[in-house]
Amino acid sequence: MTKSPQDETHQGLKSSIRELCKDFPDTYWRELDEKRAYPEAFVQALTQAGYMATLIPEEYGGAGLGVNEASIILEEIHHCGGNAAACHAQMYIMGTLLRHGSEEQKRKYLPKVADGSVRLQAFGVTEPNTGTDTTQLKTMAVRKGDRYVINGQKIWISRAEHSDLMLLIARTTPVDQVKKRTEGLSTILVDLRQAVGYGLKIRPIRTMMNHATTELFFDNLEVPVENLVGEEGQGFRYLLDSLNAERILIASECLGDAHWFLERTCRYANERVVFARPIGKNQGIQFPIARAYANLEAARLMVRRAAGLFDSGKPCGAEANISKLLSADVSWELANVAVQTHGGFGFAEEYDIERKFRETRLYQVAPISTNLILSYLAEHVLGLPRSY
Ligand SMILES: Cc1cc2nc3c(=O)[nH]c(=O)nc-3n(C[C@H](O)[C@H](O)[C@H](O)COP(=O)(O)OP(=O)(O)OC[C@H]3O[C@@H](n4cnc5c(N)ncnc54)[C@H](O)[C@@H]3O)c2cc1C
Repeated sequence: MTKSPQDETHQGLKSSIRELCKDFPDTYWRELDEKRAYPEAFVQALTQAGYMATLIPEEYGGAGLGVNEASIILEEIHHCGGNAAACHAQMYIMGTLLRHGSEEQKRKYLPKVADGSVRLQAFGVTEPNTGTDTTQLKTMAVRKGDRYVINGQKIWISRAEHSDLMLLIARTTPVDQVKKRTEGLSTILVDLRQAVGYGLKIRPIRTMMNHATTELFFDNLEVPVENLVGEEGQGFRYLLDSLNAERILIASECLGDAHWFLERTCRYANERVVFARPIGKNQGIQFPIARAYANLEAARLMVRRAAGLFDSGKPCGAEANISKLLSADVSWELANVAVQTHGGFGFAEEYDIERKFRETRLYQVAPISTNLILSYLAEHVLGLPRSY
């Protein structure tokens, strides 16, 4: 089969990422995991190589590539054993600014995000008392003259301690004063450098994997109205807009994890000799690996299809959701297969299987849980009644 120019670009991208990741081996990620530390050196290296600006158009200093290329980059980072959480966030958060921000905002922020002098890696949506039910979120931004005064609380806001900017979603009109519950929410850029200690408190949350996630407390935080992104009250629409990209990019990380588990598992199954034969000779070991491989290939096709639709501006809600579902399922399937195949060594930190196992478990819950994807497909694709 002849390769298209696009295939060759993608192969080139993959090998550049592989080259970059060689400087960040298992030991790098293992030490960060132990300390629960942010991957500063890795983010710096990605920024310098221009990958953090993949989706930023060239006119604002970025690479001007599509979600397909971004997806390949993230997949390859995870395939090499890394974790791209710090990169995916910047990629899709920036999309809201790009699609709905004013020209002035784009010129002010995007070139700096592209050259790495400003980080836009925090996205403030989830709240402790409303969870997945985003339209019920309680954080209020009340306009007073040329400022919004923000009060409320957010939870699970990742990288807030390591980002300069956060895209916040808050209510600007109380829910009992809007016709539809999706109205009255707004997206506001918060400059964390000016906010922390002046109405914003950040409390880190230690989790089962290294994710730099936090809880935020807003107490009369003042933000200039010029930081509103798009139209006031339309934030939920902008949020939905970025979700397909988010689903595809997270799915890509799952594919990378799955591929990493697959390679480590095959290698170990070939090398480990018990009862005078490699354990991989037993079909009880082979079949779960082979089945998961088939699922991985199918999930990858779906991700490529969703990314292709996204980049050509076509609707891709179903495909993006299916991508995330299948990819998160296969990375979790392979995580389990990897532990089982490695026996006791699957639990040893130095093999990294247990670390990746903890990391990939997240995708069943965040940024969107499997249940909510199934309910999207049931309602919006299959026409079944809304369940909530
Ligand atoms: C490590 C980590 C990082 C995160 N980073 C961010 C971030 O940077 N920014 C941000 O805004 N959020 C972030 N989140 C939040 C994440 O998006 C939410 O945890 C996720 O959307 C689920 O919300 P919840 O935890 O409130 O669960 P809940 O909404 O309380 O749901 C709990 C469980 O019930 C299920 N459930 C709820 N309603 C239904 C229903 N109607 N039908 C069937 N099942 C249902 C859910 O599927 C879930 O399994 C992060 C979370 C984690 C754990």
